[in-house]
Amino acid sequence: MIITIDGPAASGKSTIAKKVAKKLNYHLIGTGLMYRAAALQALLENIDITQKDQIKELIKRLQVSLSFSWEDGVERVLVNGVDVTKKLSTPEVDAYVSDVAKISDVREMMVERQRKLAKQGDVVVEGRDIGTVVLPDADIKFYVTASTKERARRRCAELAAKGHICDKQELEQDIMKRDKIDSTRKLSPLSKAKDAYPIDTTGKTIEEVVIQIMAIIKEKK
Ligand code: C5P
Repeated sequence: MIITIDGPAASGKSTIAKKVAKKLNYHLIGTGLMYRAAALQALLENIDITQKDQIKELIKRLQVSLSFSWEDGVERVLVNGVDVTKKLSTPEVDAYVSDVAKISDVREMMVERQRKLAKQGDVVVEGRDIGTVVLPDADIKFYVTASTKERARRRCAELAAKGHICDKQELEQDIMKRDKIDSTRKLSPLSKAKDAYPIDTTGKTIEEVVIQIMAIIKEKK
């Protein structure tokens, strides 16, 4: 069984996907983490975003391995064998990742890897284009949204918990900017698959949303 969860930045989809995967004992594939790993590596190597050949070469040699623990609900990311989990959700990576993710060579290579990973079956795959492009034949699809204000509030709380300083208004602007790049790019833009269940998480707790999603999965299983 393949379950996809797509949605815009900070809509709550990663947290929801983790909880759903844990409840079902399924594998979890956070595709945003793969793009974040690529962006982090490009930043570390000082590769300019306009240097498409260098970015392509970087992705080719980038070994990203994702692991998810059902026990502690933590998704870990290793890049070329080094655990970079804590470095992936920084404002620097946030600001850079969508520009990396819109490069066609990057997307092609990532989509291929994501399809391979999903082949193991019994997976929850979350991202932007999973239900539309990566796995259009998935069994159950969800499209998770929330108002921009609520998303900025959540992301701010997340960053503050990790010790980062956060300006809510600035963050709202950043989220809108990332939404714009993600939803207007030529290749597999962020959009709801026709057959995805729309889930608006505004004003709801994560637990309420997980109950709603689990009820749909149970009905369809
Ligand atoms: O989900 P997350 O916010 O971690 O994703 C980071 C970025 O990676 C997104 O803003 C988007 O640019 C890119 N992404 C993508 N396609 C996916 C998942 C993420 O383009 N399937």
